[in-house]
Amino acid sequence: MRACIACRCPGRVIGFEHQRQWRRANILGILLVFAMTVPLVGPSIGLAREANPAEWRGVHIMAWGLAGGPEGLIPLKEAITKVFHPMGVNVIVFEVGYNFDYRSHPELRQTKFITKKDAQDLVEHCRQYGIRVIPQFNCLGHQSWRNTLYPLLTQYREFEEPPDVPPGERWTELRSWCPLHPEVNGVVFSLIDELIEAFSADAFHVGMDEVLVIASKNCERCRDKSPAEVFAKAVNDLHEHLVKKRGLTMLMWGDRLLDAERFPYGKGWETSRNGTAPAIDLIPKDIIICDWHYGKHEEYPSVRYFQEKGFRVWPAGWNNADAVRSFIRYSRQNNRGGVLGYLATTWVLEPGGFCWALLGERHPALVSQRALDAATAFHAAIEELNASADQSY
Ligand SMILES: [Zn+2]
Repeated sequence: MRACIACRCPGRVIGFEHQRQWRRANILGILLVFAMTVPLVGPSIGLAREANPAEWRGVHIMAWGLAGGPEGLIPLKEAITKVFHPMGVNVIVFEVGYNFDYRSHPELRQTKFITKKDAQDLVEHCRQYGIRVIPQFNCLGHQSWRNTLYPLLTQYREFEEPPDVPPGERWTELRSWCPLHPEVNGVVFSLIDELIEAFSADAFHVGMDEVLVIASKNCERCRDKSPAEVFAKAVNDLHEHLVKKRGLTMLMWGDRLLDAERFPYGKGWETSRNGTAPAIDLIPKDIIICDWHYGKHEEYPSVRYFQEKGFRVWPAGWNNADAVRSFIRYSRQNNRGGVLGYLATTWVLEPGGFCWALLGERHPALVSQRALDAATAFHAAIEELNASADQSY
């Protein structure tokens, strides 16, 4: 005789008392779902929330450098309430970088910064709308821009991977730390830990895009190693800390894992020409790869490639509405079970500029053309996602 599936009491498949309890629970459940669903339909936008709750409908917010500091939080919260939530956005990747009130290493804090309280308030605001906040700290590369060196390499000159290209070459604009320096992880991981705590994070984005200076012949630690080996070492160290030790989900950009000879995405930095691509076979498969491509193509073969290699992939576009539509369509058609959804990047340099654009603000001091373009592309992404919302992930 099979036990009651409600409580394992002996009897029929489900006991009589439990049938009544289940009916009551089901009616309450239906009412609850109805009550939860009605307010989720966007009153101002008129677009339904996404049909598939498993879809990761994300926005990447630049909150570092010029865009750092608390002033961007005001329009961000308003946009969450009035735009993101009605449109079904359920993840915000919040790239804060050095613009945070770090207590373990206050010397690494940028002039404009947000506090732990700011982070907690943002997370609480998002929680009301079912939006997950994933903090981001860009690791390894992107430690400078043009002639500006960012705090880690300013304060700890010994951490820098010595460039092996002449000064003035474009890629010297993006300096890196040496992942084999014995002390660099101790410093960086303490910053990451502060962000995890402040944002109550269950996932963390480590960046790692456009690492152009790596395995330099001028570095005594790296010179005998391949770029893929050194890159994988950095990824694996972060994975060890974030996933194995702390139990978080780890995300990273995918460009260094794509060989430029194999993937026809043009001459930009979205594929690797510096030997890092073989690292794809040297890193754990539970990392989510954020596969960014901003141009319009007929095909985006990296979406299939990452899945074939065993990764989940989160396609990420930017400011070209046609490209965004094409990328989303291709990703859905080529979903082999590993495509999570879509991540809209914004890359707006004014604090809150992207959100002001979404909210209808047009004053040029607040909203640049760059912000308007990103907002247009974001709307295109939502339309495309809604147009095929019945497709499963
Ligand atoms: Zn090195």
